[in-house]
This record gives sequence, C-alpha cells and structure tokens, in this order.
Amino acid sequence: MPKCEECRKFFSLEEDPKKGDCVQRVVDPRQAYYKAKPVTAEKDAAKCESFEKK
Ligand code: SF4
Repeated sequence: MPKCEECRKFFSLEEDPKKGDCVQRVVDPRQAYYKAKPVTAEKDAAKCESFEKK
C-alpha cells in the first residue's frame, strides 16, 4: 500500500519527518499556482488520484 511519504508531492517537515505538506500544482485557464495541505507521512495514498511515485 503506497503512503504519502512515497509520493513526489510530499515534503516532510524538518522538525518532524512524519509530518509534511502535500504540494500540488494547480493549473486553471488564467493561472498556475501551488496548493499545500498538511498530511502525515503514513497517510494511505492508495485512493489518492494525484499520487505520483518518487
Ligand atoms: S495526498 Fe496524494 S498527492 Fe498528496 S502527498 Fe499524499 S499521495 Fe501525494
């Protein structure tokens, strides 16, 4: 089962590598930007459509 820590979009926190941010690039017709949300390294990534293996 893949976990967020195996995903390219996971960036762990320096002070606690078990926590991090999921950073995704969002492109809409007028602009592209990054969206970040807090996730844990152990979070199940099996159901995530944006999972990308490192
Ligand atoms: S939530 Fe999805 S895109 Fe974000 S780090 Fe986890 S597996 Fe990757």
